[in-house]
Amino acid sequence: MRFDAVVIGAGPGGSTSAIALARAGWRVALIEKASFPRRKVCGEFLSATSLPVIDRLGIGEDWRAAAGPEVRRLALFAGERVVDAPMPAGEGYGRALGRDILDLKLAEEAKRSGVALFQPARALSLAPDGDGQIVHIEGSDGEAELQASVVIAAHGSWEPGALASHLPKRHERTDLLGFKAHFHGATLARDLMPLLACPGGYGGIVWADGGRLSLSCCIRRDVLAELRQRDPGLSASAALHRHLLASSLGIRRAIGEAVLAGPWLAAGPIRPGIRAAYADDIFRVGNVAGESHPIIAEGISMAIQSGWLLAQALGTDTAPSRAARQRAGKRYEAAWRRQFAGRIRAAGLFAGIALHAPSAAVAGALIAAAPAILTLGARLSGKTKPIAFV
Ligand SMILES: Cc1cc2nc3c(=O)[nH]c(=O)nc-3n(C[C@H](O)[C@H](O)[C@H](O)COP(=O)(O)OP(=O)(O)OC[C@H]3O[C@@H](n4cnc5c(N)ncnc54)[C@H](O)[C@@H]3O)c2cc1C
Repeated sequence: MRFDAVVIGAGPGGSTSAIALARAGWRVALIEKASFPRRKVCGEFLSATSLPVIDRLGIGEDWRAAAGPEVRRLALFAGERVVDAPMPAGEGYGRALGRDILDLKLAEEAKRSGVALFQPARALSLAPDGDGQIVHIEGSDGEAELQASVVIAAHGSWEPGALASHLPKRHERTDLLGFKAHFHGATLARDLMPLLACPGGYGGIVWADGGRLSLSCCIRRDVLAELRQRDPGLSASAALHRHLLASSLGIRRAIGEAVLAGPWLAAGPIRPGIRAAYADDIFRVGNVAGESHPIIAEGISMAIQSGWLLAQALGTDTAPSRAARQRAGKRYEAAWRRQFAGRIRAAGLFAGIALHAPSAAVAGALIAAAPAILTLGARLSGKTKPIAFV
């Protein structure tokens, strides 16, 4: 089967690039290995800076109807400390929507835009084919080969695989593992998004759709192992749940009486860093191109915005030569770095402080004395930096 572009992965990055290219006249295939709807390890908060993109994608109205309340205040829950500060005002306020709903809406919009969605189907390998490539996929109907001049990797960064865009496997003591749960019956101001600090990790909570509270966090692999040694009968997620409750007054108030809405999910290790946006003749969007520590809750926005920036860089030449792809790759890489590099570095600094107990104690005291530091941190995280549309 022949397409102009094949996109691997229908998370927010992949679906955005697929929709934007299809609207620009490209014949696009989108490959997704999971069946939707599916829950995902993610805090589910979407910054206001992405709303103009969501609107252009055609799901803005739906998103607004379904998402949780506007997040107008940030907070820090650390030990006995509970401090809050205003969210910086940009183009309005961000809100949270479950990834089971958001990713499904985006994939459905891709289909409505004329994208050929292969789901469930996994991209297994890539091979050169004249001036383009062949993507070998395996789905419920068996195997198939998709030919295209443009290949976009949007498969995320947490799972190993055989494509040149996959990251090498990693297993280190200091790895950060991601966890996520939804709760019903939680107690938290509707407009508040607290950052949670706990020994060996950090996380966040926010109201999402349908009265669900979304809790997500990262914890060091060795700290989690220690927690489990202390309570050998407990699962990893139960040990983490207990650790969070023991670590912070704010989290006890918020979820002490709440009940889990579905099982805990785990993923990782996460792979923060800045990577190539175009290499091995593969364009990369979302986490594949670069990933911030989730402490700033910007990964969905970076995925959506990078998907849009890539479609802008590729333009309307639906059969670009290798040289044209390299030129588009350079334009995209430059736009990507202008938009995201600063916040990835800021998030690395914030996470480093949160994970180093003495620094976290000093930062907590400073924030208690000057809560506006939280607002400044949100600005440095890109919460008031929308993309430029061309
Ligand atoms: C604990 C935690 C909390 C977070 N909280 C937030 C938050 O509140 N707000 C925020 O903005 N970001 C948050 N993030 C980050 C955010 O989840 C990611 O940055 C975002 O999901 C990246 O989107 P993506 O499209 O690049 O990849 P993904 O969302 O990972 O999507 C990749 C898709 O590709 C599919 N796939 C993978 N391999 C293949 C293959 N070989 N073939 C076909 N399909 C494939 C997968 O099934 C998946 O659907 C958080 C992350 C963590 C770990």
